[in-house]
Amino acid sequence: ALDIRGIRKSFGKGERQVEVLKRIDIDVKPGEFLILVGPSGCGKSTLLNLIAGLDDPTEGAIRIGDRDVVGVPPAQRDIAMVFQSYALYPTMSVAENIGFAMEIRKVPKAERTKRIAEVAAMLQISHLLDRRPSQLSGGQRQRVAMGRALARQPELFLFDEPLSNLDAKLRVEMRAEIKRLHQISGITSVYVTHDQIEAMTLGSRIAVMKDGLVQQLGTPDEIYNRPANTYVATFIGSPT
Ligand code: ATP
Ligand code: MG
Repeated sequence: ALDIRGIRKSFGKGERQVEVLKRIDIDVKPGEFLILVGPSGCGKSTLLNLIAGLDDPTEGAIRIGDRDVVGVPPAQRDIAMVFQSYALYPTMSVAENIGFAMEIRKVPKAERTKRIAEVAAMLQISHLLDRRPSQLSGGQRQRVAMGRALARQPELFLFDEPLSNLDAKLRVEMRAEIKRLHQISGITSVYVTHDQIEAMTLGSRIAVMKDGLVQQLGTPDEIYNRPANTYVATFIGSPT
C-alpha cells in the first residue's frame, strides 16, 4: 500500500520558483494498480521520483506499507521502477541483469538461480538467459527490464510510460503481459501513461492530474461515465 498526503513540490528559488505539485493526496490500496494520467509537464514523473526517493517533497508525507519514507534513501524503500528507456547493463547477460539486485543484497547463489528461472519462465524469456542486451529485440529488452524489477519482489512497482517506445503491436502484447504479471504477483503498482487504452484496461483506479492537483480519482467506469470536469472528460474521451 502507498499513501501520499499533502504533497507539494517546487523547483527553483525566489522569482523563478515554480510549484509543480500543489497538493497531492493519493491513497493506493494493497494490490491495487493505480494509473496516473495528465498532460505533459503536469508533474507525473516528479511524483514518481518522490515516491522512489530520487527527490524529496517540499512538503507532505509518503508512506509505503506502514513506513514513513520521506528521507529514506531509494535503495531502502523496497520499490522497483520500470522506465520508458530500459537501462539494462550492457556487459551482463540477461540472467545477470535479472539477478543483479539479489546479488547486491547477498541472496545466496542457489536461491538467485531459482528466482531467475522463475521470473524468466513468467516472462517467457527462459531461452534468452545467456544473451547480452544488444542481442535482444526491443520487446525482449522490455521483458528483461520487467524481470529485473520483478526479481526483487518489491512492495511497490513504479512504471513511467514503460511501453511508449514500443511499436503498436508490441505495446498490445506487453500491456497484456503487465496485466497478467500484476494478477500473478499482486504487487501494488503505480503506472504513468499518456495512453487512454492503457489507462482504461490496466487500472483498478485512475488519477487524473492537471495544474499540480488530482482532478479526479476513480475507477475507469467512474472516470468515463461521471467525469468531474471538462478536462477529465476530454482526456478520457467520454461523452459530456
Ligand atoms: P511528461 O508527460 O512530458 O513526461 P510529466 O508530467 O512527467 O511530463 P515532469 O517531468 O514531472 O512532468 O515535470 C513537471 C514540471 O516540473 C515540468 O515543467 C518540468 O520542467 C519541471 N521539472 C521537473 N524536474 C525539474 C527539476 N529538477 N528542476 C526544475 N524543474 C523541473
Ligand atoms: Mg514524465
